[in-house]
Amino acid sequence: TRILLTGASGFIASHILEKLLARGYSVRFTVRSEDKAQKLLAAHSSHASQLDYVLVPDIVVPGAFDAAVQSDPPFDGILHTASPFHFNVTDPQKQLMEPAIQGTVGILQAAQKYAPSVKRIVITSSFAAIFDAAQGSYPGKTYTEADWNPITWETGLENPLNGYRASKKLAEKAAWEFVEREKPGFDIATINPPMVFGPPKPYISSLESLNTSNERTLNFIRGKCKQGLPHSGVFLWTDVREVAEAHILAFEKPDAANKRFLISSNEYFSNQMIVDIIAKCFPEYADQFPEVREPNDGLPEEGCYKVDNSRSREILGMSYRPLEECVRDLVVALKEMGL
Ligand code: NDP
Repeated sequence: TRILLTGASGFIASHILEKLLARGYSVRFTVRSEDKAQKLLAAHSSHASQLDYVLVPDIVVPGAFDAAVQSDPPFDGILHTASPFHFNVTDPQKQLMEPAIQGTVGILQAAQKYAPSVKRIVITSSFAAIFDAAQGSYPGKTYTEADWNPITWETGLENPLNGYRASKKLAEKAAWEFVEREKPGFDIATINPPMVFGPPKPYISSLESLNTSNERTLNFIRGKCKQGLPHSGVFLWTDVREVAEAHILAFEKPDAANKRFLISSNEYFSNQMIVDIIAKCFPEYADQFPEVREPNDGLPEEGCYKVDNSRSREILGMSYRPLEECVRDLVVALKEMGL
């Protein structure tokens, strides 16, 4: 079975790539630079016969994926993860929203035109496409796959955080609208995780270029928040290994067709909970954290929205590891990277 994986240099995608190869898939990946391609090839040299790549330097360019989707032997499926996730932007439209939306529509168009053998495209969306940040801690609410973030294009232009949230919501919407309108020969499934934590792959990541969702943990350990922890943002999380697994299961399981999957642990996280785990498992860092604890373990005192992950468990067979294991494995990986 042959898969095209976009954005393979990413935190989540590097785990997907490793799992695909271990399961015997033939994989072509796309990355933006030759340097990243070579790092991935070197890390997976024992699977060289299963692996090739195509450079896609700019996913916004019309036809960017046209060459990547054409292959002999042809592809059975596509996992589309490439999308900007960082807040270091001055122009949310150009740097976040357009790449997310045009990248997603672009891969669907390319598959429709040039890859008739593709049966399913799994798209990395986000809890950001579900979560209504304006409702805050929203006690009594249980988020499910039926929920959509009401954020608009205009709100997305206001600042980088809104731009990211709008990029994910609008890109996912565009994908569902494409399938509805075009009725292509493939179906789609989306993976909608909240904050994704866990060990980065050292051959493609570094402390200097750590992915966005793991940055907070590095900052805490480096004592950057000794004066007080920042707001946790959301209180839901998933381990990167679970998110990677979900992408592959959503390709493999026939019943995943045309469904969104909220891939989230039921266990809350807060920044206070993260530093508590680090102080317990790695006492050498305990003096890097604020002396005053956040009330209620850093969770909203009025109560907090919940998440229903039953679809992921029933259709994909997902299970979720505890926060302590995830944070511990992340810190072990950061130490291996030179922390
Ligand atoms: P990374 O930043 O590690 O990965 C992002 C990937 O997308 C990289 O391969 C990156 O390439 C590529 N990319 C970004 N912008 C562009 C662009 N303009 N053109 C081409 N490629 C681009 O982040 P994650 O692994 O965390 O994110 C992967 C996906 O998961 C994204 O779609 C993200 O929105 C989603 N997601 C992540 C969550 C998280 O907490 N981590 C939560 C929910 C969803 P390069 O390496 O060259 O920069």
